[in-house]
This record gives sequence, structure tokens and C-alpha cells, in this order.
Amino acid sequence: MDRPIFVTRPDMPPLEELEPMLRQIWQSRILTNGGEFHARLEQELARYLDVPYVSLTANGTLSLMLALRALGIEQGEVITTPYSFVATTHALQWSGLRPVFADISPKGFALDPDRVEEQITPRTKAILAVHVYGHPCDCAGLRRVAGRYGLPLIYDASHAFGVRMQGRSLLEQGDMATLSFHATKVFNTIEGGAVICRSLAMKQEIDRLRNFGFAGETEITGIGINAKLDELRCAYGLAALRHVDDAIARRRSLDAIYRRELGAVPALTVPPAPAEDVEWNYSHFPVLVPQGRDRLYERLKSDGILTRRYFYPLITDFEPYRTLLASQKICEAPNARRAADSVLCLPLYPDLPEQTLLRITDLIKKYC
Ligand SMILES: *Cc1c(COP(=O)(O)O)cnc(C)c1O
Repeated sequence: MDRPIFVTRPDMPPLEELEPMLRQIWQSRILTNGGEFHARLEQELARYLDVPYVSLTANGTLSLMLALRALGIEQGEVITTPYSFVATTHALQWSGLRPVFADISPKGFALDPDRVEEQITPRTKAILAVHVYGHPCDCAGLRRVAGRYGLPLIYDASHAFGVRMQGRSLLEQGDMATLSFHATKVFNTIEGGAVICRSLAMKQEIDRLRNFGFAGETEITGIGINAKLDELRCAYGLAALRHVDDAIARRRSLDAIYRRELGAVPALTVPPAPAEDVEWNYSHFPVLVPQGRDRLYERLKSDGILTRRYFYPLITDFEPYRTLLASQKICEAPNARRAADSVLCLPLYPDLPEQTLLRITDLIKKYC
């Protein structure tokens, strides 16, 4: 193969659609700290995602830190999953919070509410769950556990842009949800993110915190940070948003071909799509290869197909965390470990040609 095939490739809006907005920015010289495109993107995203409030941020990691800060979670322990992108745990550590890990459920990839409950102590201050691959967590189970102990529940919904469950946005679950608009995600602003709040007061708190805590020219209401999204990225996002439905439809049809081609390969398992009452975004195409996953990864790589082992290693196995957590008894998390040791995410992005996809599945069948 001539050029490498990456696991994802950023979706970009047509340049012609961006150009008039860029001209306007050059004319107005309003570059950041809010502006027309920022206001419009917050409005249009709220409409598209079907949530009352959207607060744009500079990225998904800062979105998590802002959510924790706005909910007043400033010390103690937070129960989270080892099966995620490292940023989920990094955000806790940067916020001075101690991550405590619970296992994922044996079916699926998200936190098991029963395992979460086992980790709760008087030091527990919140639960941070992740909708891995955009598959909804067991939200009812997590809500029950959080409710029983009076704990705030935050969702890292970085993979769950546009996902709906029982006719409602998945982003309505929990006390707050965060999004990432990084170039690798279903919807991107190159870098960017958002926090989804339940109330206007909370949205306003996030909006102050992302701008150093300023509540006016001469007043600071909290230890804020700089997490603002600039006008260029907001304009890019407005142009991208017009195409996101097409992008998801295209992802859906590629997902269907993968399922058709790989569903009966004995050496691997294709995890089922989310339940019927879920409108999914087809953000990833993971397969589980219990034997020889790394060999398959290497062989595909030598053919120029760069799959990714999302999420391997487990967060608890990365060196800074191994040392940081050495003194605490880390939960065994056998389900997370099994997933990490067998998962392989295959290339999936809207302009992946079907021919290329079929070449990938043919090679996988050959190597398995
Ligand atoms: C991408 C991602 C993040 C981090 O988002 P950034 O915008 O890159 O900071 C956090 N959590 C998960 C699950 C992600 O996939």
C-alpha cells in the first residue's frame, strides 16, 4: 500500500464554506474571548445536541477539569475507569484528586456500577465514568449508586457526540458531561471541547472558570483557568457542523460493511452495536482478538494499516500511575485487562473508501 491508512483521519469542512467567516474575522479582528462565531457555535451545538446549555472550551481535558472545579470537587478520591484515554485520569491528577479505579462490566467497556459501589469510602467525592466508543454507560445503575451515596456523577462523553438514548441526548445524563472536539473525534474543531451543564447557573460558572474566573472587569469569583475556544476554531466548527450528519451516516455504512465482513471470523469477536433504543455515532470500530492481537497489529502495520490498541495499556499500567499508585491497593480490574489485551480499533472515518476497507478486512481474514 502506498500511503499508510490511519485509524482515523480528521473530517474537515469544505474550505469555501470557511472562507467567508475567516474574512469576517480578519475584518473585525475579534479573535477570541467570545465573539459572534463562539456565540453561534454554542447555540447551534445546543440545538444539534438537543441540550439546553453548551459551554465551549479549548479541549476535552480542560473540560473535565472545569467540570470537577465547578462541582466543587477539589480534594479527596474520585472513582473512575482504567479503560479510557489517559486524559480522563490526568484531569483528576491535575485537579489534585486521587483516582480510585473500578473495573468495567464483563459485557461492554464501561464502568460496572457494582464494582464502583465496592470502591466507595468516606473519602469518595465523585464518580467519573466514560461512554467508551460512544456506547452508553449503564447510566441507570451509575445514577442509583451515585444517588445512594450522594455523589456527583460526571461523564467523560468525549466519544459520545450526538449519541441519543431512548429519544434523549446521552449528554443529559449525570450532573455534567464533557466533550472533546479534537481532530480525531466524530465532530472536531481541530482542538476544542465543551461542558454540558444542567442549569444556567452552572453554565455561567463554567463560563467564568474557563476565563480565569472573571465575573466582570474587576471581579474574580474562583480560581479559573484559560480554557477559551478562539473565533477561528469556532468558525471551523460551524462549517463542520453542517456536515456532521453526513459524516455519521457514512460511518454507519462503513460499520455495516465491517460487521458483514468480520462477523463470522472465528479468531475475533465484533462487539455488538449499542441497544436498539440508542442512536449511535459509530465513533470507533473495535474488535476483540483474544489470541495474537499484537501479532495482527504488527502485520497490519507492516502492510501500512495503522490500527490502534484503544485502550492499551490500561491507565493504571502507564508508568507515572504505576509509581503514583504504588502505595494503594489498585483494584484488579480483570475485565478491563481482558479488553485492553484483546482490543484492536480498525480504521474508521467518513472518507475511508470502501475498497480500502475491503482490503483491510481481506488482510485480517488472511492473518486470522
Ligand atoms: C479525546 C479524549 C479526551 C481528551 O480530549 P482532548 O480534547 O484531546 O483534550 C478525554 N477523554 C477521552 C475518553 C478521549 O477520547
